[in-house]
Amino acid sequence: LATIYHIDKPDDLQAAVEALRAGGLVAFPTETVYGLGALSTDEEAVRAVFRAKGRPAANPLILHIADPADLDRCAASLPPLAQKLVGRFWPGPLTLVVPKADWVPDVVSGGRATVGVRLPDDDIARRLIRAVGTPLVGPSANKSGRPSPTSVRHVLDDLEADIAGVVDGGTTPLGLESTLLDITATPPRVLRLGAVSTDQLEAVIGPVEVAPQAAPAGKLAHYQTRAKVWRLSGQDRAARALTWLQAAPRPAGLMLADETIAGLGPIPADVFVWNMGSLGRPEMAAHRLFEGLRRLDAAGCAAILTESWPRQGLGQALMNHLDLISQPLEEDAP
Ligand code: AMP
Ligand code: MG
Repeated sequence: LATIYHIDKPDDLQAAVEALRAGGLVAFPTETVYGLGALSTDEEAVRAVFRAKGRPAANPLILHIADPADLDRCAASLPPLAQKLVGRFWPGPLTLVVPKADWVPDVVSGGRATVGVRLPDDDIARRLIRAVGTPLVGPSANKSGRPSPTSVRHVLDDLEADIAGVVDGGTTPLGLESTLLDITATPPRVLRLGAVSTDQLEAVIGPVEVAPQAAPAGKLAHYQTRAKVWRLSGQDRAARALTWLQAAPRPAGLMLADETIAGLGPIPADVFVWNMGSLGRPEMAAHRLFEGLRRLDAAGCAAILTESWPRQGLGQALMNHLDLISQPLEEDAP
């Protein structure tokens, strides 16, 4: 049903561009997760994005551009911090919330006077946007509430019936969404923790306020699996994981670090294990998170156990995600 485009082939690039110009939805890879692309100037196409995702109309979309200079076209005015941030972090996983230019339809911004803008650090994404010649909206290409998509497979699993196609870019390298920074606020506000850490931001622009609860999506469900997810932290993790497993409904899923898995011994056949990599490598765990949630969900897991990473660097955003989807094990039994 949906076409897979390989935009190294000129015909495929042209076909993807034509599908977008005709008001179709084309998912595309970025360095964070796959985006669901549509022409930002086409209100009908933008409405189709909300319908396809099942996304509430008040949860705004962000604009994806191909060159830093396009930020001027998207913003009514630019706060002084903008140039510093663009110079340091673009192209890259930082979305800037700026005053919206008049041409940006209200459906895109969910009726707000601001709009999020991002320049992806992904050659395929930029070539597509450049060839279209208009900023694309690009929310994560998943059904609302599901884990974000990090592969073509994920996009098709959620949206095959709703889209013209998806541009193949393999597995997305970061696997966590962009950091969302509102630079119309003083101090600037981090509305979503993502692949750029608050430490990195503060090194460039000074203190920021971390206020994810102030985001339009702050109260919506995120990254859901059918199974309840529990989270280990502290010492003796392998032993405590084994205790959890004894009482856990089957099939059970483990989404754990190398170090913990190494201490488990033989794994029963009705327990699915997804290795998140080392506790010392939050970037690996971030890269594997959404794939793991989708796989354990597809395997029918009735309960899932994950664990805590140190909240440093990318570990901050990783843990923000794990905080959203899991309950600390200590408070309750599975
Ligand atoms: P996604 O569309 O899945 O990539 O997520 C984009 C996130 O950015 C959502 O959480 C939106 O609520 C948020 N967002 C987009 N535009 C704005 C805006 N103008 N102000 C505040 N948050 C925004
Ligand atoms: Mg999303």
